[in-house]
Amino acid sequence: MSVRVRFAPSPTGPLHIGGVRTALYNYLFAKKHNGAFVLRIEDTDQTRYVEGAEKYIADALSWLGITPDESPSGNGAVGPYRQSDRKKLYVSNIDVLLRSKKAYLAFDTPEELAAMRSAAEAEGETFIYNWKKRGELKNSVSLSEEETQRLLNEGAPYVVRFKTFSEGQNTTLKLKDEVRGTVTVDTSLLDDKILVKQDGMPTYHFANVVDDHLMKITHVIRGEEWLPSMALHVLLYNAFDWEAPSFAHVPLILKPSGKGKLSKRDGDTFGFPVFPLQWDKQTPGFKEAGYLPESLVNYLALLGWSPGGEKELFSIDELIDAFSLEGITKSGGRFDSERCKWFNQQYLQKVNPMRLVAVLENDLKENGVDKNEIDCTRVVELIQNRLTLLTDIWEEAKFFFVSPKEYDEKAVRKQWKPDTNNLLSAISELIANAKNVSAEELGPLIKSWANENGIGLGKIMAPLRIALVGSLRGPDVFEICSTIGVTNCVHRINAAIGYNKS
Ligand code: GLU
Repeated sequence: MSVRVRFAPSPTGPLHIGGVRTALYNYLFAKKHNGAFVLRIEDTDQTRYVEGAEKYIADALSWLGITPDESPSGNGAVGPYRQSDRKKLYVSNIDVLLRSKKAYLAFDTPEELAAMRSAAEAEGETFIYNWKKRGELKNSVSLSEEETQRLLNEGAPYVVRFKTFSEGQNTTLKLKDEVRGTVTVDTSLLDDKILVKQDGMPTYHFANVVDDHLMKITHVIRGEEWLPSMALHVLLYNAFDWEAPSFAHVPLILKPSGKGKLSKRDGDTFGFPVFPLQWDKQTPGFKEAGYLPESLVNYLALLGWSPGGEKELFSIDELIDAFSLEGITKSGGRFDSERCKWFNQQYLQKVNPMRLVAVLENDLKENGVDKNEIDCTRVVELIQNRLTLLTDIWEEAKFFFVSPKEYDEKAVRKQWKPDTNNLLSAISELIANAKNVSAEELGPLIKSWANENGIGLGKIMAPLRIALVGSLRGPDVFEICSTIGVTNCVHRINAAIGYNKS
């Protein structure tokens, strides 16, 4: 049987990086086994539906290159891939369980249930709608067929509940989780979960199991928060006489402190993104913060999964090759924004410079700056090894295009000596007369001039840099000169001389 996995987010808002990681593990597993990665939108809870969330999920997966083989907007033979379009299938399947008496109608009103809950609480007990209580409550198990029919004819609202456990059944259910190993559950302690709500919509549990079966899902890889639901899901598969898929529950992504789950609000608290893309103005994403999708994918892959060994940088193909469910760790992965940045820095060193040129050209446009004669590819070559985030590009490259308007005061105070202006004048002349300002020729030219005139190079280089850049930062000075060209050099040096004339 070929591997089929699914990512099944609910469109309740932007996708958190925990969800992205779940999608990624599903994708890697599918690709490793030449299987299919399915995107299913679980939108049966209309009260939690958020406009735009489905598109956000699709855009985020597309940015990250975690492309589904089957999805609401793509191909696939087992659709529809949006649960709200699958109502018919839930109706026919709940009928199967009702007919086989594995599910039943429950007419208890919310008020009645609340009253029973408080009465139990007053006795120091917890009310559970289960096999012990089922016979005493208002449902099609306790009521006669006529009475049930009468309520239906009257239009009394009802839900459909699952007969999770019945007296005489085996209480021990052994479950296998690919990450946790064997989990044993006492099924007599479980409640009769609602499968269909009063509004006729299926609950998450019911729709999820029906869909995983109909979509021929072989492995359910999902967040650890669903581990407690595994018993119910397996019991549902058994009730239908369907073969259950394998399960792998992935540990949580933890806060940087290691204490508690990384929440959607932690982005604000800690000042780093927790969403792949910007959701609204207050919620920037990794993309806008300057991360490369392949670096985020690499970082997230290793946050809760280990291929063994020391290797840290993995291309997507290498991740696919190395991925296995056995490598998923049992304990949660602590989100470390510095490490995440380190990955990005590593990727930025190796990335095709043309991608950075495109970002730079966009920055120029956004800042209304003309690139004039300056070669953006050369600028990128000079700054590439100085970048941690794509958003650093403008900071590192700006001065190539825009002459300094002010100068780093501290640097000027330290570097400007009484003879500095004269020295810079001479350099300016030297550059103006140079036929060529390639870095290879300019360096020796200035060095030999300094030599001939008995001047230490140190007295020239720092002021020259300040004149060209505005501060002491930036790549090799001669490279800067050759990139901005003779006219710009002369202009900037003279401007600095004028500025520092006291
Ligand atoms: N709709 C569920 C969620 O958003 C899916 C859980 C599952 O994968 O079974 O987390």
